[in-house]
Amino acid sequence: MIPFTYRCTDCGRSYQREAVRYLCPTCGGTYRPGVPLPGVLEAVLDYAAIGRAFDPARPDWNLFCAVEPEFHPASPVGNTPLVPGGRYGQSLGLDCLWVKNEGLNPSGSLKDRASFLVVAEALRIGEPRIVAASTGNAASALAAVCAAAGLEALIFVPEKAPRAKLVQMLLYGARVLPVKGTYDDAFRLSLEFTARRGGLNRNTAYHPLTIEGKKTAGLEIWAQLGQEVPDAIFVPVGDGVILGGIHKAFLDLKRTGLAGHLPRLFCIQAERSDAIHRYIQTGTYADAPDPATRADSISVSCPSNAHGARRAVLESGGASLTVSDEEILAAQAAMARLTGIFAEPAAAAAAAGLAKLQAGPSPLPRESKVVLLVTGHGLKDIEAPLSGIRIPPPIEPRLDAVPG
Ligand SMILES: *Cc1c(COP(=O)(O)O)cnc(C)c1O
Ligand SMILES: [Zn+2]
Repeated sequence: MIPFTYRCTDCGRSYQREAVRYLCPTCGGTYRPGVPLPGVLEAVLDYAAIGRAFDPARPDWNLFCAVEPEFHPASPVGNTPLVPGGRYGQSLGLDCLWVKNEGLNPSGSLKDRASFLVVAEALRIGEPRIVAASTGNAASALAAVCAAAGLEALIFVPEKAPRAKLVQMLLYGARVLPVKGTYDDAFRLSLEFTARRGGLNRNTAYHPLTIEGKKTAGLEIWAQLGQEVPDAIFVPVGDGVILGGIHKAFLDLKRTGLAGHLPRLFCIQAERSDAIHRYIQTGTYADAPDPATRADSISVSCPSNAHGARRAVLESGGASLTVSDEEILAAQAAMARLTGIFAEPAAAAAAAGLAKLQAGPSPLPRESKVVLLVTGHGLKDIEAPLSGIRIPPPIEPRLDAVPG
C-alpha cells in the first residue's frame, strides 16, 4: 500500500488520511440540503512511486487502491467483461464500439465497486455499521457486500424504488427504511442519521472512497483495451459519481505516466433529471425540480457530485446530452437484440445518448474507439420494458397449434 492524502476539489487544501472522513472540513461546513456537495475530497496517490512500482506486464491494481488489500471483503467485485459491439456498433455507424457489462457484478450493478471499497474502509477503521441513501442499486450493492463482510447495512430508500432492488437488499439482510418522498429526501435523512447516531455513511460523493471505488471500472477499460485510452466513453449520469470515478481513473493513469491523454467523457442524463447537463451547458447550477424518469437510477433533483461531473466533462473535452424515456427504452431493446446484453433503463440511457449523437449532425467518426458503460442489469427493473413488449398467449401443446 502506498500512502495517500485527501485533497479538497474546491479549495485545494490537503489532509492526512486519518484527519478527515467525508467532506473538506473547511468547505463542507457550508453544505445545506438542496445544493450539490461542496468540498468533495479526492484521494491523491503517490504517482511517482506507483509509476516506479507498476509493471504493465503484471499489473498490480492494489497500487491504485486507497484501502489495503488485507481489509478487502472476501466477495470480489468488478473484472467485468468488455465485449465488442459488433452488429450493434455497425448499427450506430461505429467499427470499434465496446460494451463494458457492469450488470455482471455480484449484485448486478457498477455500485458494487463503491460499496466494496467503503466496506473495506469500514473494516479498516472498525465501524460495524454502514448507512446509505440510495435510489436502489447503491443500497443493494451495500447490502450484498455487508452480508459478505459480516457488517450491518442501514439503508434509506425512496418509497418508489423498483421491487427487485428492494427484494435484493432485504434478502441480503439489510435494515431497509423506505422514506416518503424522493431520493433527495432519503439522502438528507441519512446524513442527519450518521451525524447524530453514528455509523459510516456511504452516500455517493459524500464518502470520497465511493469515487475511488467506481474508478476501478475505468482502470479495467484501459487494461482491457490493451492499455490504451479510448476516444470516448458514454456514461449514464445521476449524481455524477460514476462519471467522476471514470475520469479519476484516467487522471491517475496519466499522472503515473501510463496514459498519455484523457478519453472524452459523454454525460448522458434523462430529459427531466438533467441538472448536470444544464450546469455543463450554461455554467450555472440549478436543481432539476421534478426529475421523473423510468430510469430510476439516474433520477435525482440535486446531484451530489454536480461540480466534479461538470469538471470531468469539460476537462476531458467531452459533452453532455439528454434522452427521453422513449429513447431509453428503444435503446434498451436495440442493445438487447444486437448484443445479448440486457441493461436496466438507467444503463440504457448511455446507449440512447450514443444513438442520438450518431443520428445527429455531428456523429463520431466510424473508426472512433468508443466504450459504452452498461452500469446495471436489466432484471433489476422489468416493469419499464414490459410496457413495450407483449407476452404471447399460450397455445395448445400440439404441433398443429404452432404457427408456421
Ligand atoms: C447509480 C447508477 C447510475 C448513475 O451513477 P451516478 O454516480 O449517480 O451518476 C447509472 N446507472 C446505474 C445502473 C446506476 O445504478
Ligand atoms: Zn475545501
